[in-house]
Amino acid sequence: MGEGDELCGQEDLFCVWSKNIFKAACEVFCIDDDHGGQDDKNSIFHNDSTWKPNKYRFSIVAEVTELAAALCHLHKRKVVETRIISRQNLLHESSGRSTILVCLQIGDTQELNYVPGDHVGIHPTNQEELVEKVMERMEELPAFNDVIRVETLLETQTEQGPQRKWVSEKRLPPCTVFQALSHFLDITTPPSPELLESFAELATDPKEKKELEELTQGTHKYEDWKWECVPTIADVLEEFQSVRVPASLLLTQLPLLQPRYYSISSSPDVYPSEIHLTVAVLKYRTRRDQGPVRHGVCSSWLNHISPGDTVPCFIRRAPLFHLPSDISVPCMLVGPGTGIAPYRSFWQQRLYEIENQGWKPCAMILIFGCRHSQMDHLYKEEVMVAKEKGVFKEIYTAYSRDPGWKKVYVQEIIQTQLPVELFHILNSMKGHLYVCGDVTMAQEVAKTVQEIIAAQGDMSLNDAATYIAKLQDENRYHEDIFGVTLRTREVTTKIRSTSLTCWQGTKSMIGSA
Ligand code: FAD
Ligand code: NAP
Repeated sequence: MGEGDELCGQEDLFCVWSKNIFKAACEVFCIDDDHGGQDDKNSIFHNDSTWKPNKYRFSIVAEVTELAAALCHLHKRKVVETRIISRQNLLHESSGRSTILVCLQIGDTQELNYVPGDHVGIHPTNQEELVEKVMERMEELPAFNDVIRVETLLETQTEQGPQRKWVSEKRLPPCTVFQALSHFLDITTPPSPELLESFAELATDPKEKKELEELTQGTHKYEDWKWECVPTIADVLEEFQSVRVPASLLLTQLPLLQPRYYSISSSPDVYPSEIHLTVAVLKYRTRRDQGPVRHGVCSSWLNHISPGDTVPCFIRRAPLFHLPSDISVPCMLVGPGTGIAPYRSFWQQRLYEIENQGWKPCAMILIFGCRHSQMDHLYKEEVMVAKEKGVFKEIYTAYSRDPGWKKVYVQEIIQTQLPVELFHILNSMKGHLYVCGDVTMAQEVAKTVQEIIAAQGDMSLNDAATYIAKLQDENRYHEDIFGVTLRTREVTTKIRSTSLTCWQGTKSMIGSA
């Protein structure tokens, strides 16, 4: 097994790893030099997937595959088509940002079963303008409305000698090029070094060719470029005008457009045929905030589509983030910003149980965090109503940018106001702690919880870490992590510089070995 860090040196480490794994595989399967030269062996890894002119062609087919069925086939998931019913910006318009409540309707014949805490995977559509920009630079394009299938020339060795035949590529369903770039292929993630290598081969301007070759070689240069400019395929083709890119290259070599996950923000008991999402609309500038504006693919798409439009999605179970089956145990919920998303399904569920089933669940504690009390306090009124009706015992809010006030984060509230209560809940009451949102926040909350357990339980930090591991084993310490979402640029730069030091160390160890 090898490990790579996406933020630093992953390409280089993969090359070293793949060579080693190949050597090991040859030994395991007793493939020695008699079975062919080194070139043959190396080609095994790259044989089928690399693009070469004349290796691909298009055939025109009669019918396009229906979108949900195509996505099911492509991602091996049970994708169904929901429709957007409504969208509402939850932030004050003067905040300059958008966090939206998106309500999706599940069709009568569709089956989408979920419980509070589960995730929904959304298959987004790429921005039309970007698709058009890419298409403008593609060569050997079929006609716009032609439904095509990509075919590969397959070479096999037979007793009669090498034989060639055209076979259908299974990766993409029959579709037009516009559909492929809109729904199935990732056109916004910076292109990989392998794809840049193909572009370098196709570049006719020697200066551009050299620049592209340089990018594909030194990892540093590639990664600095990737993180600084965050270039999409359209940007690269715009920058390197002499690259003539055949349609078959992009259709076969671009990665698949991946679904985005969202924590479900509704209870199926309250909204049996709906799914609600709380989505932070991603917008940032490249080149240290001086470059062009970038829009997150899925969050921006959800922010632009109209009521009635189709949203293909699937449910992903999150059994480690469900409410306890014993409603009498206490729960503490921690989630700043969009980290509040799954808790809306929790409070709706509890409200339903109180009002419709006559249950008396133990009232929960919510610790939320946002920048300004007046602008981005998500679901403030809903939470207050839920408290009045007995869902919450206490609600705490950490404001980080309220003018005239000290910056406060959720972990500080736990540390300063709730250490005794937290330990009592976890230790004496066998209660549950839920943490949802950004990874750095979750790590800092975990550190705070460890310190509190050590202090309150009169134990060492190491013992407190073991205590937390036990809570996790008992499914009482729950985390729902979104990735790096808060202070993305700052955190990414910090992680990159730390990773760089580790990576240089690993590299010099590999070198000396
Ligand atoms: P993309 O097009 O995927 O762009 C995101 C990428 O942009 C990042 O990976 C990063 O590489 C880059 N980027 C971001 N900011 C910067 C910057 N400042 N500088 C340079 N590059 C940058 N999100 C929610 O809003 N609500 C939820 O409930 C939610 N739940 C989640 C649950 C899980 C389990 C997971 C894994 C994630 C969840 N997310 C949630 C995040 C969500 O899945 C998407 O990642 C998010 O909406 C962004 O997707 P996008 O397609 O809009 O952006
Ligand atoms: P937010 O409003 O940016 O932040 C919520 C609160 O968390 C703020 O008070 C913030 O304080 C605080 N915070 C920051 N770092 C923290 C830490 N380490 N520990 C605890 N609290 C911390 O959150 P949001 O509404 O969820 O929006 C997040 C932003 O991320 C959006 O602008 C969105 O575009 C983007 N986003 C990115 C992705 C992605 O995939 N990269 C996904 C979703 C959202 P500060 O005042 O210090 O910031």
